Amino acid sequence: MIFRPEKLKIKDQRMTPFIDSDELWGYLNTAPATKAQVREVIAKSLDKQRLTLAETATLINATDPDLIEEIKQGARTLKEKVYGQRIVLFAPLYIGNHCTNNCAYCGFKASNKKIKRVTLDHDDLVAQVKALENTGQKRLILVYGEHPGYDADFIAESVRTVYSVKSGPGEIRRVNINAAPMDIDGFRIIKDSKIGTYQIFQETYHRDTYAKVHLGGKKRDFDWRLTGLDRAQEAGIDDVGIGALFGLYDWRFEVLGLVRHTNHFEAVYNVGPHTISFPRIQYASELNIDQSHMVSDAEFTRLVAILRLAVPYTGLILTARESAAVRDEIMQFGVSQIDGGTNIEMGGYSKRKENEDQDIDLEQFQINDNRSLNEIMDDLIEHRYIPSFCTACYRLGRTGEHFMEFSVPGFIKRFCQPNALMTLAEYLEDYAPAETKVKGYELIREKLDEIEDESFKTTLTGKIEQIKNGTRDLYF
Ligand code: SAM
Ligand code: SF4
Repeated sequence: MIFRPEKLKIKDQRMTPFIDSDELWGYLNTAPATKAQVREVIAKSLDKQRLTLAETATLINATDPDLIEEIKQGARTLKEKVYGQRIVLFAPLYIGNHCTNNCAYCGFKASNKKIKRVTLDHDDLVAQVKALENTGQKRLILVYGEHPGYDADFIAESVRTVYSVKSGPGEIRRVNINAAPMDIDGFRIIKDSKIGTYQIFQETYHRDTYAKVHLGGKKRDFDWRLTGLDRAQEAGIDDVGIGALFGLYDWRFEVLGLVRHTNHFEAVYNVGPHTISFPRIQYASELNIDQSHMVSDAEFTRLVAILRLAVPYTGLILTARESAAVRDEIMQFGVSQIDGGTNIEMGGYSKRKENEDQDIDLEQFQINDNRSLNEIMDDLIEHRYIPSFCTACYRLGRTGEHFMEFSVPGFIKRFCQPNALMTLAEYLEDYAPAETKVKGYELIREKLDEIEDESFKTTLTGKIEQIKNGTRDLYF
């Protein structure tokens, strides 16, 4: 075992609320952060061990600029040494923005009369998916407001529709979900539609703050939401994503909340969450929140680096809420997935032209990275990241892929990187303009040259040739 889940206090914590504010503040108020202690904690993470709450609090409490730099360097080293330079790409697709909740931070809140309410019908959905496929997307996350119309059957049906749409060489190979928590039967229905990850963000792990910003609807129930992904696990969905909306409460507390949530899954289900998201609050129609906990860019960078070290084998998602400059800066500290070519306007992928201003009354919030998928590909390639559309683990039933990447020696070299290169080659053949194609193949050649195992290099080179000759969807 390379990690040691903290001991359970009671025998079975399934579906038991596990957040204790006093406990988390206790760690933050007492964790020492001397140079020696911070270095010891960083070394433990680089030794591939997940950090405890107390150790995470030590990193959070380090405020000396040199120590913060060491934490960032630690996160960078972990990313480079363990994960390499792959970045997985996806796009969000909003299916419906009707909502019965009143979340103070969200443009879709029920009380917002300015917002234009839309639910994509079958034809609208097909048009969105075709438009996304035509740019090269292979992985989507479907997003829904919370509304009786968006029940488990509706969500499952939309997933099946997305998988069924093919446009030219395009197809969506993995559909993730971000939607309200369901009951166990609901999660079973959704699981049967073959989703990838089910994401639910707790928004804030601080109960009092949660009550202050969730002003109406079912989402007011903190515990129902907190235990939502436990019910998903009970229904057999073992690929789940957690998140906190940074800016609602003290970021230090939220980081510990995310680590506590991770510990809970490890202790009870023997598997951590697949991904952690850390959206920062952005401008939204009728935004109405206390702004005293807004997170600065410097704090944001710190918290991403700390999360990387605290949960070294969990995927980290950084979205287009952040500007291109912030994303470029923060990616190096261990981000594994970003969205590209993002458009969160209802129906926007088939309608809106590139670089057109956002219509905030059709959107949940404002995004700050409006670059097209190809612009993002160019940027990644230029910075020597390997853009990946890989969906192999999910399709081969290799669940716990991040954990395997991290813990199985050679897994990344044998599976992840070659699959990333093959999906990149597909993109270059089917969607890239000439200039991107030239640069993309230069990167592929560079990465092929780095492979030491000659027989594997020959196999992979052969597969890339097959892709050039028209074969698609190859993976290890
Ligand atoms: N309605 C579902 C729910 O609440 O679980 C889906 C979630 S919503 C469509 C996706 C996420 O966007 C929310 O969980 C929240 O964290 C985030 N979000 C909401 N308003 C935001 C804002 N103003 N800025 C940034 N992120 C926001
Ligand atoms: Fe509705 Fe989700 Fe927005 Fe809350 S965050 S108002 S639940 S769409």
